[in-house]
Amino acid sequence: TISAMSKQLSFKLVLLGESAVGKSSLVLRFVKDQFDDYRESTIGAAFLTQIVTLDDGSTIKFEIWDTAGQERYKSLAPMYYRNANCAVVVYDITQSASLDKARTWIRELQRQADPSIIIALCGNKSDLEARRQVTKEEAQKYAEEEGLLWTETSAKSGEGVTEIFNTIARKLPTSP
Ligand code: GDP
Repeated sequence: TISAMSKQLSFKLVLLGESAVGKSSLVLRFVKDQFDDYRESTIGAAFLTQIVTLDDGSTIKFEIWDTAGQERYKSLAPMYYRNANCAVVVYDITQSASLDKARTWIRELQRQADPSIIIALCGNKSDLEARRQVTKEEAQKYAEEEGLLWTETSAKSGEGVTEIFNTIARKLPTSP
């Protein structure tokens, strides 16, 4: 019999979204369970992996691409999402304009990425409730219309972070 371990599958996940919405912080929270208020912006692309255990006890591996400077080097973005199995498109709930930017990324993915890509829309910085500009209703309605996963997260408190990656993991095609 084939051992369960030999069945581990790898999936490429890219993070997209306006600068400073918290993409790198979400990855840092998910992979290392850390948060840094003063972390410096990612230069270039950071690559990290994380293993996720599914409900049946099997595991999958995420290869996470955190692509910095997407706005300045927009022509490079297709290189990151071309073979991606999943994309987490992040906005900041305290910045309406960041949701507009997320919508632009999602349109681009819908046109250019693999049609089977799983897209999750993620409203980050949920700990900054007092400065909220994007309502849950608005974002959730948009996500439903477009068939996207949606959740709010806080890389700072950790709220929702594991959940979004686990939800994506459960949607991936892992059955033979
Ligand atoms: P990126 O450019 O999208 O990768 O954003 P960063 O991860 O570099 O985060 C930008 C800034 O927002 C940093 O100062 C982070 O400490 C801060 N930040 C990121 N996530 C959160 C969060 O969930 N809550 C709060 N309050 N700040 C956050």
